[in-house]
Amino acid sequence: MSEDRSAKLEAIAAEIRVCTACRLYEEANNAVPGYGNVDAEILFIGEGPGANEDREGLPFIGRSGKYLDYLIDLIGLNREQVFITNVVKHRAPDNRDPRPDEMVACDHFLQRQFEIIDPLVVATLGRFSMGKYFAKGKITQIHGQPKYADGRAYYPLFHPAAALRNPGLRHDMEDDIRRIPEILAEVKRRREADGQSKPANDDNQPSNDDDPKQQSLF
Ligand code: URA
Repeated sequence: MSEDRSAKLEAIAAEIRVCTACRLYEEANNAVPGYGNVDAEILFIGEGPGANEDREGLPFIGRSGKYLDYLIDLIGLNREQVFITNVVKHRAPDNRDPRPDEMVACDHFLQRQFEIIDPLVVATLGRFSMGKYFAKGKITQIHGQPKYADGRAYYPLFHPAAALRNPGLRHDMEDDIRRIPEILAEVKRRREADGQSKPANDDNQPSNDDDPKQQSLF
């Protein structure tokens, strides 16, 4: 049931808002758990909140967020129809890169959000979220190449901020985004062929943990 799953997602957000498991909460104003639709077929995962996000408690609302909205619009969707979150849920001081221990401390939140949303396409934005699902490969080499595993597609994309900084990447970024509907259709086709047309979201069942959702798969 969507309402139960929404309540579970909100319970995770509440935990995130009071999380002190790593140092990042100390300088942050607001945690940024994520935003979107519990029934989303597409999960976008960024790096971590910036200054705007830290002020409002919402993901991707600054300049790169506006660009992400534009990208999502290219495939006829909006942020109410997808789910957007980050690898770390508190802003790192001066927007430095998240450190390994911070990512480890935050990992279970993403993992639990992932299990509840059960997305068909996991679109990683930038190298930190990519690193969670792709052990090898540089983003410049593997962006736009979906990997199909555990009934979904993992899809590495550039970070929107990188495409804003380097306009030479925008063409690729937008081409990659435009392929999402085709990738989604392929996931559905494969699921149907496997007799697994809809993810099991039975609230009484623990989700199937045979699949290494958040380990590096590839
Ligand atoms: N960059 C990110 O990776 N995430 C945000 O939420 C905002 C900017």
